[in-house]
Amino acid sequence: MRDADVVLIGGGPVGMTAALYAARAGLSVIVLEPRRSPVDKACGEGVMPGALVALHQLGVEPVGFDFRGIRYTDGRRSVTADFPGGPGRGVRRTELHQVLRAALDAADIRVLPVAAVGVEQDSSSVRVTLADSRRVLTASYVVAADGLHSPTRRWLGLEAPARGPRRHGLRRHFAVAPWIDRVEVHWAPAGEAYVTPVAEDTVGVALLTGNKGPFEEHLAQFPALAQRLVGVEPASSVLGAGPFAQRVTSRASGRVLLVGDAGGYVDALTGEGLAVGFAQAKMAVRAILAGQPSAYPRLARQVTWRSTALTRGLLLATQPQWGRRATLRAAVALPGVFRGAVSVLSRT
Ligand SMILES: Cc1cc2nc3c(=O)[nH]c(=O)nc-3n(C[C@H](O)[C@H](O)[C@H](O)COP(=O)(O)OP(=O)(O)OC[C@H]3O[C@@H](n4cnc5c(N)ncnc54)[C@H](O)[C@@H]3O)c2cc1C
Repeated sequence: MRDADVVLIGGGPVGMTAALYAARAGLSVIVLEPRRSPVDKACGEGVMPGALVALHQLGVEPVGFDFRGIRYTDGRRSVTADFPGGPGRGVRRTELHQVLRAALDAADIRVLPVAAVGVEQDSSSVRVTLADSRRVLTASYVVAADGLHSPTRRWLGLEAPARGPRRHGLRRHFAVAPWIDRVEVHWAPAGEAYVTPVAEDTVGVALLTGNKGPFEEHLAQFPALAQRLVGVEPASSVLGAGPFAQRVTSRASGRVLLVGDAGGYVDALTGEGLAVGFAQAKMAVRAILAGQPSAYPRLARQVTWRSTALTRGLLLATQPQWGRRATLRAAVALPGVFRGAVSVLSRT
């Protein structure tokens, strides 16, 4: 006797999106999410155009602040590239969580406030052990969307050694009206600062860096941005996440499929974790409906490789100091190159 067709481990944005795709396809779904709603998380909060379209198609309309492209600056020079199609939207993670959770409730999807602590499978089903009283749920498939440090990935032995620089991110909001309707990316030798407008009176600042230290110390690496924020009240506490680089040997093992950050991550540099995760969620449900979970890694690659290649390329180009400078110089000299990159972001 099965409890559901699909058990979703992790009710973050990608897990909830996967649950909606599955329910729409007529599958019965149970979501496991131990954190209290609305869940907050360190994020740049830029919902790229592709992600916004995916949400819209699911009937999910988060409130936020529309942005029409990206402006890169090193404090002296800047280059702007706008999305060729519709806009992206700066959306607070708590708002994103709330609207997705409301959509789950409207679709009668059960959400259990409990963590998974283990999975076991055979050729026809998967059993998920729950943290509370060690109850076990049985499902035909498990979709794991349990984030950057996915326990499911570890249980299944799908982790691979990370490559590339060890970077992490910190975010904080500030009570100030957005000064442009774009995501503003500040480049410095130490890392990047992403400023995302999220409301008429609030911007989010996400700092990506390989260095340790408090938020203010990192912010000081971006003098033009730090200057703008002098005397401005913080509107949230500092949250952090990382290290970013997480690799998997495969995004599926038998009847368990990994989506979102759980299936591996490169870096937050291109701000498209949500867009890629939503696209993977759709592919996971497609593979399940076809009864071919082993097809999922190939389907996931189709919707992930462009973003991975772009992120790896930019990360490589921005590694050493000369590379960082050269990247912005190239962007200024060759706006077409960056517009191409931004158009990739808009499509994912
Ligand atoms: C600093 C920073 C800036 C970023 N900027 C952007 C941006 O601007 N735009 C963008 O699109 N992306 C951005 N990203 C990436 C984005 O935040 C992630 O890609 C996205 O959150 C992935 O969603 P997810 O649902 O896969 O994982 P998560 O959001 O991490 O959700 C995972 C969920 O799984 C739950 N969970 C964990 N373990 C268990 C368990 N054992 N049982 C049950 N549940 C469990 C957790 O409680 C959590 O709610 C950024 C990331 C960082 C760190």
